[in-house]
Amino acid sequence: VSVRAIPADSALAAVRPEIRALATYAAPAASGPAPILKLDFNESPFDVPEEIKGVVLARLAERRWSLYPERRNPRLVEALAARLGVSPSELAVGNGSGELILAAVSVFAGQGGTLVLAPPTFSLYRQMAAISGARLSLVPRLGPDLAVDEEEVLARVAGTGAIPLVCSPNNPTGGVVSRELVRRLAAAASVVLLDQAYVDFAAEEDDALPLLPELPNLVVFRTLSKAYAAAGFRIGYVAARAGLLAEIEKAYLPYSVDHAAEELALALLERPEISRRLCALLASERERVAARLRQLSLAVPPSRSNFLFFAPRDGDGRALHARLLARGIAVRELHATHPGHLRVTVGSPEQNDLFLAVLAEEL
Ligand code: PMP
Repeated sequence: VSVRAIPADSALAAVRPEIRALATYAAPAASGPAPILKLDFNESPFDVPEEIKGVVLARLAERRWSLYPERRNPRLVEALAARLGVSPSELAVGNGSGELILAAVSVFAGQGGTLVLAPPTFSLYRQMAAISGARLSLVPRLGPDLAVDEEEVLARVAGTGAIPLVCSPNNPTGGVVSRELVRRLAAAASVVLLDQAYVDFAAEEDDALPLLPELPNLVVFRTLSKAYAAAGFRIGYVAARAGLLAEIEKAYLPYSVDHAAEELALALLERPEISRRLCALLASERERVAARLRQLSLAVPPSRSNFLFFAPRDGDGRALHARLLARGIAVRELHATHPGHLRVTVGSPEQNDLFLAVLAEEL
């Protein structure tokens, strides 16, 4: 066969249609200068302190880089378990919580199972369903607060084998579900997948980990990407009963938390007061920014995360997004999933002041 005879897009024609149909995740703007203020990825405005970076680099230099990490990162699992007050047998770590959620989606809903989502919710869940071959059952959120339609979600999962994947606090709307709903879901569904990536910014009662002893079919996902400002190093974890955990661990490849991520996570967990202080500051900034947005006559549902969901009154979120970007401020534009709406990450007090001043001018 001559190379020239191979049609250029024959390989593309072999791509599974579910994958072909996906949009690329949050493609950055193709042109223009880098934004001055990056409030579009729910990242922490505060970098890991120099002192911790120094400790991590020194410890990393001591390790043997030629060896694989220890299976299941037992030192890290122990440290996390101690911090969270759960048993190490009920915890596993992964390359960001995204990897772990994908593994669980694939284990419980892959190959033709059904995943129940409450949109607008984390956009990557759709990609996870496509990758694992899960069908989607969508239950739109209700009312000005974009609350989960609890009865409808319960009806979709009760006796159907469908698996609920609930995000609390929810990205991009910020709201939480009650412990009571988690209990009812656990009673109705075979397993409940609960993504708590942003729970460190929420209230104590929003934390679902205390439900683990009571609910044998609850799976909770967390991350160090947000509250610990460690997004650049990919450290997530999942908490569930040991038997369930062992099955989820079969669905992602070993050694996904490397030496560097492990050393950073250990160093961060030794200094929990740093994360606690910054989360408290961001939660109070969130309330300040939300109050100002409401003063500007924008509807903002209550948020317990490090971001706020809003829409300009004229409904043209895309135009406002473009105007903010032209002034160097990047926020997330949600046209594809929630037309008219934007999501802004809460930044440092100075960043929030700048965002609010520019926004007020652009509205
Ligand atoms: N869940 C939600 C709701 C998220 O917003 C994110 C990150 N944007 C993740 C999970 C994944 O986070 P990571 O893989 O960095 O732990």
